[in-house]
Amino acid sequence: MSELRLITEPGVYVVGRPSFAYAGLDAYFADRHAGCKLERGYHDDAVSAGDAMPEVAGRMCYQSFTNPRPGGNAAYLDHIKSVGHGSVLEHSVWNFIITGVSRSLSHELIRHRAGIGVSELSQRYVDCSDVAFVIPPALLKYHRDWCENCGGISAEALDLALPFSEWLGGRVDSLAEYAQWTDRLVKDAPADLPATERRKWARQAARSVLPECTETQLFWTANARALRHFIEMRASRHADQEIRRLAVCVLRLMQSEAPHLFSDYTLTELGPGDWEATTPHRKV
Ligand SMILES: Cc1cc2nc3c(=O)[nH]c(=O)nc-3n(C[C@H](O)[C@H](O)[C@H](O)COP(=O)(O)OP(=O)(O)OC[C@H]3O[C@@H](n4cnc5c(N)ncnc54)[C@H](O)[C@@H]3O)c2cc1C
Repeated sequence: MSELRLITEPGVYVVGRPSFAYAGLDAYFADRHAGCKLERGYHDDAVSAGDAMPEVAGRMCYQSFTNPRPGGNAAYLDHIKSVGHGSVLEHSVWNFIITGVSRSLSHELIRHRAGIGVSELSQRYVDCSDVAFVIPPALLKYHRDWCENCGGISAEALDLALPFSEWLGGRVDSLAEYAQWTDRLVKDAPADLPATERRKWARQAARSVLPECTETQLFWTANARALRHFIEMRASRHADQEIRRLAVCVLRLMQSEAPHLFSDYTLTELGPGDWEATTPHRKV
């Protein structure tokens, strides 16, 4: 019982980001834009290749490298956003690993398809007998009450007359049920299956007793245009609280990765630790 693991917030790791191949970029300017007034084709206030890439793409369209308007990369991208020419944002792509989110969240996350790639932890291949559970944000206050009344997960803590003990008891039961079904099904699996396949065969059915708050992990790849749409849909007050927390976390990371692309969002606190993001430039 002491092995039951609980998660109170997501982990979001940026594991890949845009970068220029300067040999090619410099060769292009030497060949076609010898008089370019912009260093390497973009304004030097761009703090990352993520911010600079859409400017290079946009300037390539209009061949506007030689006489750039003043205002820098920030003004250039503000203009792109205000006129809705968002396709150039698709050239900046980031890779993330996301942990500490529930299967109910991942079910919503994967609905975002345009400009996004997803790989998700396999519940058939990976043993879930010590899986963690994500506490839904609305239950965190019950979790805090419970933590103040006991030192950890124990039989006594489950018997405390607190709402969180009831929730936890259900999760302990889910894990016990998963273990029972896995053991039973591994023995009953078709005899001709090799050992790894027998375990997969058992787990694919045993996982049916795991709840939606079971933790999952995702490798998530998205371009800046898709990231903006995801943030607008999911950091909204109308979205589910857990995915809103993830979307706000992604926005905060992106404001450091590409501040000019994501500068137009306003964060408003809806309640303690619960934020909403809004922008005047929706769906560029
Ligand atoms: C508050 C909230 C409640 C929701 N409730 C439900 C619900 O009850 N049931 C439910 O099933 N879903 C629900 N959803 C999910 C929602 O309907 C979308 O599936 C999800 O938000 C993905 O967004 P998207 O459709 O814009 O797709 P994305 O993949 O993010 O696409 C971005 C944009 O690209 C364009 N696009 C993408 N695919 C196509 C295509 N095939 N053809 C043409 N254009 C395309 C569209 O303009 C789209 O908006 C909800 C979402 C939110 C935010």
